[in-house]
Amino acid sequence: MPKVTIDGRTFDAPAGRTIIDIAAQNGIEIPHFCWHPKLTPAGNCRMCLVEVEKMPKLAIACMTTVADGMVVQTASEKVLNARHAVMEFLLINHPLDCPICDEAGECKLQDYAYKYSIGESRFEEDKVHKPKRVELGPNVLLDVERCIMCSRCVRFSDEIAHQPVLTFTQRGTHVVLTTFPDTQLDNRYSMNVIELCPVGALTSRDFRFKARVWEMSSTDSVCTGCARGCNTNVWVRNNEILRLTPRHNEEVNSYWMCDDGRLKTFKHVNAAERLSAPLVRKEGQLMETGWDEAIAKAVSELRLFRKNEIAALGSGFSSNEDNYLLQKFFRETVGTRLVDLVEHVVEGDQDDLLIRADKTPNTTGAREVGVRPGPAGEDLASILQGVRDGSIKALYVLEDDIAADPAVREVLGNLELLIVHAHQRNATTEFADIVFAASTFAERNGTFVNFQRHVQRFRPAVATQEQDRALDGFNMSRWDKFAAHNDRWGRGSRRDARPSWRILAALAVVYGVKYRYQTAEDVFREITERVPTFKGMSYLAVGSRGRTLAAAGTTAPAPVA
Ligand code: SF4
Ligand code: SF4
Repeated sequence: MPKVTIDGRTFDAPAGRTIIDIAAQNGIEIPHFCWHPKLTPAGNCRMCLVEVEKMPKLAIACMTTVADGMVVQTASEKVLNARHAVMEFLLINHPLDCPICDEAGECKLQDYAYKYSIGESRFEEDKVHKPKRVELGPNVLLDVERCIMCSRCVRFSDEIAHQPVLTFTQRGTHVVLTTFPDTQLDNRYSMNVIELCPVGALTSRDFRFKARVWEMSSTDSVCTGCARGCNTNVWVRNNEILRLTPRHNEEVNSYWMCDDGRLKTFKHVNAAERLSAPLVRKEGQLMETGWDEAIAKAVSELRLFRKNEIAALGSGFSSNEDNYLLQKFFRETVGTRLVDLVEHVVEGDQDDLLIRADKTPNTTGAREVGVRPGPAGEDLASILQGVRDGSIKALYVLEDDIAADPAVREVLGNLELLIVHAHQRNATTEFADIVFAASTFAERNGTFVNFQRHVQRFRPAVATQEQDRALDGFNMSRWDKFAAHNDRWGRGSRRDARPSWRILAALAVVYGVKYRYQTAEDVFREITERVPTFKGMSYLAVGSRGRTLAAAGTTAPAPVA
């Protein structure tokens, strides 16, 4: 194996690899703007200049392939002077508007200005002015003055999104990033250019000016928009989610996520119409009530029916912990065999990058933990038929707006009892007798299993009264701690929505069965003991990257390119 020495340390260097690649792999930072591990190198920012022994001039680390015996210096005097010069050059025409720039706090140019620049400019003439607030597409805005022409966005659009609409026009200091005539940056992955952009040139039309980066907390989570389960960060200020960004996981989503996942999967968490207490139907109206009253009523109503008159539907939108307890409670305590779920597959809405036709984050997991047809084929179709013909009189539904499907909606009116877990009123709650206010993925701990059979954790990012009871770890930004301290959003303003598994455990207790789970992790521990494919897993082992379920004969699909 060829060897390369970087800053006095010697590494194996497989043929064809570049200096920046080997350095990054071994924890040596070579500053760069245009290089990205998933894009073809462009070599245009010149920030990664390094000194290579026996080469007459400095070389760019992103385009210089390693050779056996190569000796590289990344921080010699010559290299540092070159970096200062590159930074001074890049900042000549930059507007230096960090105080009003969305990128401030997570900007490579700002960081490098502190780290690699001498902090002075010899340029005293007028800066070149360029277009501001250019609408590149429905989701992305461009400030051309901030652009440093790294071409990352151009290469992403060409190579990953396969929508080559971005280009540069003009020359020298007058270069402008733009779209080709009559085109827009409008593809299902367009917003990935926002994080790819090393400066604040590309901003999200949805998130712009909502918060400074340091005012928000960031919590590791998983997108709920489809069965890919892209790894995300949930950004929260004042107990409100302001944005989702992709989190790198080579096994699942690489560095990317789709625009729908980014924009459509969190706004319901913030919605003013969210339920904050259980609802019970009285005189035809759903009225707020206390948790103890709703749970007691649910149990006494369920007890009015014979076990084969009761069916339960799990949910691909709920966690493994929720689905596991649902099937356990209804099979073992209530005694019905009628447990299944509604699948949400949009045929054809799938691509080769991330998007999956299954629009739930956890149908695979729900099936794995036991929400599946009974031994005599008791499945969703037979449950709906039973509701239609009146043999099934009571239905329990976990976090799924099943009435959104007209075929399901038409039979719900036949039920004598409908109990649902919901985040807000929806088409299904219109038919419900009891509605439990369920917390969302952003308010609790839990796990999903994606289509690759990868078990992934999500954590609470938004506080409910549940977190006040200090049962689950909770991540708060310094801003939110300050706000909470000053009662900007205190205990009283938090919703009393609860995880579905906890609601089911409370029902079981009233039924006379002792469920001793204190946390979601306790439920997960039992899953690992009772479901063979989960054996050996724990929240710690699943960690932030996830772990693939054991399954004989199952081969996980290849990671994203
Ligand atoms: S807009 Fe950003 S990503 Fe695109 S070329 Fe300019 S600096 Fe690079
Ligand atoms: S591909 Fe699926 S999981 Fe990934 S961001 Fe889009 S909707 Fe979410």
